[in-house]
Amino acid sequence: MTRVFSGIKPTGHLTLGNYLGAMRQWATVDQHRADALFCVVDLHALTVDHDPARVRRLSRQSATLLLASGLDPDLCTLFVQSHVDEHARLSYVLECVATDGEMRRMIQYKEKAARERERGGSVRLSLLTYPVLMAADILAYGTAEVPVGDDQAQHVELARDLAVRFNHRYGQTFVVPKATLPPVAARVMNLQEPTAKMGKSDDSGPGIVYLLDEPDVVRKKIMRAVTDSGQDVVYDRESRPGVANLLEILAACSGADPEKLSGGYASYGALKKDTAEAVVELLRPVQERHRELCADSAYVEGVLRDGAEKARGMARPMVDAAYRAIGL
Ligand code: ADP
Repeated sequence: MTRVFSGIKPTGHLTLGNYLGAMRQWATVDQHRADALFCVVDLHALTVDHDPARVRRLSRQSATLLLASGLDPDLCTLFVQSHVDEHARLSYVLECVATDGEMRRMIQYKEKAARERERGGSVRLSLLTYPVLMAADILAYGTAEVPVGDDQAQHVELARDLAVRFNHRYGQTFVVPKATLPPVAARVMNLQEPTAKMGKSDDSGPGIVYLLDEPDVVRKKIMRAVTDSGQDVVYDRESRPGVANLLEILAACSGADPEKLSGGYASYGALKKDTAEAVVELLRPVQERHRELCADSAYVEGVLRDGAEKARGMARPMVDAAYRAIGL
C-alpha cells in the first residue's frame, strides 16, 4: 500500500485554505487509498516568534479539527510531531547532506525572513533549516506521496533531492517522495488580497475564513471579498484574481469546474452569495463534529497517544538505518 504523509503547523487557527488545499483530500481520499500518516507539526511552529501556551493549545485544536474533518484513527495514523523523537534525530543527519545555499533559496524562507527583519526582529536559525526538518518528517516514514497545497511543493522537492543525494552517497536508504496536489483550490487566496495566499499564520483578518467561523461571519467575509472593477464573471487568475478565487472556492465546494461555473453568473453579488452558502454548508458538519469532540478530550488524547506509538514504531527502523548508513 502506498505510504502517504502530510502535516499541518499549529501556528494559527485552521483556514478554508488548509481544508480545501489539504485536509479534505486527506479525509476523503488519502486515508482510504493509502497507508496514511497525518501529523500536527508543532516543532515547525517554533521557527518564528511564538507563545508556548498558544502553540500547545493550537496543537490540540488542530488535531481535534483534523478528526472533525473526517480523519479516522482506524484508517490512518494521527499524531503530534514532537511526541516522536525520530523527526529531530533524522533532521540532524539530513542537515549533513543539505547545503546552506539550497536552504537560502527556499521561497518561504526568503518571504518569512524578510518579514521578520522588517519587523525589526531576528531570524531564527530554525526558520532556515525548517525544510530539512520537513524532509525528515517525510523521509522517516518511507513516504511515497505527500498531499499538500501548491505552496509546499518546493519543500517536497527538497525532500526528494535530499533522499536522492543521501541514497547516492551512503547507499539506498530512503524512498524518494513526490508531492500530490488537489485538482482544484490548490491555492486558496486571501479574500481581501487575492494575490496572496490565505495563510493561517498571517494576522487574523477579514480576508481569511477560519474553519470555526460562525456562519454569519463566513457570509460577511465572503460578501465583502475584494473583486475587481469589471462587471462580468470570467475565470481568469491573472487579470481577475478575486473573482477567480471565489470561483475556485465554489468549484471546490461543489465539485464543479471553475471555468464552467463562471458562465452561470451575471453578477459578482450572485457569485458571492452562492459561494458563501456553499462554504457555510461545507463547514457545518466539521463544526458540529468539532463541538462533540471538544466535549471528549480524553478521546482526542487517546488517539494522539496511540498515533505517536504507531508512528514511532514505523520511523525508528528507518532512522536507525540512516544513522548506520552515514557512519554512526
Ligand atoms: P499555513 O500556510 O496556513 O500555515 P501549513 O503550512 O500548516 O499552513 O499547511 C498545511 C497544509 O495546508 C499544507 O498542505 C498547505 O499546502 C495547505 N495550505 C495552506 N494554506 C493553503 C491555501 N491558502 N490554499 C491551499 N492549501 C493551503
